[in-house]
Amino acid sequence: MKNPEAQQDVSLSQGVRMMFYMMKPNETSFQTLEEVPDYVKKATPFFISLMVLELVVSWIHRGKPPGRLDDALTSISAGVLSRLPNLFFRSIELTTYIYVWENYRLFDWPWDSPWTWYLAFLGVDFGYYWFHRMAHEINFMWAGHQTHHSSEDYNLSTALRQSVLQIYTSWIFYSPLALFIPPSVYAVHLQFNLLYQFWIHTEVITNLGPLELILNTPSHHRVHHGRNRYCIDKNYAGVLIIWDRIFGTFEAEKEKVVYGLTHPINTFEPIKVQFHHLFYIWTTFWDTPGFFNKFSVIFKGPGWGPGKPRLGLSEEIPEVTGKEVPFSSSASQLLKIYTVVQFALMLAFYEDTFANTAELSQVTLLLRVCFVILTLTSIGFLLDQRQEATLMETLRCLVFLLLYRFGHLKPLVPSLSMAFEV
Ligand SMILES: [Zn+2]
Ligand SMILES: [Zn+2]
Repeated sequence: MKNPEAQQDVSLSQGVRMMFYMMKPNETSFQTLEEVPDYVKKATPFFISLMVLELVVSWIHRGKPPGRLDDALTSISAGVLSRLPNLFFRSIELTTYIYVWENYRLFDWPWDSPWTWYLAFLGVDFGYYWFHRMAHEINFMWAGHQTHHSSEDYNLSTALRQSVLQIYTSWIFYSPLALFIPPSVYAVHLQFNLLYQFWIHTEVITNLGPLELILNTPSHHRVHHGRNRYCIDKNYAGVLIIWDRIFGTFEAEKEKVVYGLTHPINTFEPIKVQFHHLFYIWTTFWDTPGFFNKFSVIFKGPGWGPGKPRLGLSEEIPEVTGKEVPFSSSASQLLKIYTVVQFALMLAFYEDTFANTAELSQVTLLLRVCFVILTLTSIGFLLDQRQEATLMETLRCLVFLLLYRFGHLKPLVPSLSMAFEV
């Protein structure tokens, strides 16, 4: 029997509460996976509202915005790229989970019991801790997760800087839950666990008193994003900081945190942001002598080298002074405004594509995805002031006209169609 209190539409109150994991079991328990709402998709207006709120609070309290435009655009680009595969496939985190549940489950826990709900909350958060810890301690997993750490700012847009590759390893850590927790309950918590981690990416909240003991908070997660030596490999928590306290990886915020990778990549190109570490592993693999050493390049920590401990040497991490200047775009203000306008138009096409996936042919979907990737790459080239940027942007405009001409894109404002016809 269906749960009468669970609905697929998200009310304003539920929307606000879901961003903080303050949902009740009875309103978010579903019998089948198909009934589970796409909470992450429904969160877009709440992401935007909280980012605007952060901007206002930051202006009032500190007299400046919480970050920089070039960095924020790159973060949102990564968020867009990471969700594009969802247009074609159900995520691997769900398909593998369903496979294990259907073939190997040990118990049939009731989907509508609050006990199942609370144990799934703990199970998903525990799985996330170990996934996240391994994503920092195993080089090929770090190749995906490093994207999230490549921002040199720390604000709500940083939360959206997600990896395309990450889900291809994270599923392993959630699969054991499929032995007893129904897929519909898991799918709810997987989304809430992700959404909870949005609001902790901010500098405008300093300390939350006793909550800091139990919950992952902005202060704890700032440490996780730091490249100061005391911050490295600390605070892996998703929702509950207790896992770090139990397993010895907790560190409280001390001196000012300098954000980003220990070796900044100094680029706003979205493809490089996603994949540069894979190329680094590839070259290091061939440059490192010996079979077992090559094996270690892939499976030991990103800081490992022959003769070093598994996670590398902390003294090799560059010391920070607090005076580091983050990489910034040298593009003119006018060009930056142009990139924002193109980015906003691309976002509108992206939203339209997600909203109408069922009506679009596979060819149109594929071409639209290619157009989104081309747009993000071109914006990255413009921000980086690459020599090829003009050529790339001209090419992108031509591709846009061709896609429109052959009916794969439609103008967002119908009255503009005349202009395109001309
Ligand atoms: Zn991390
Ligand atoms: Zn983060």
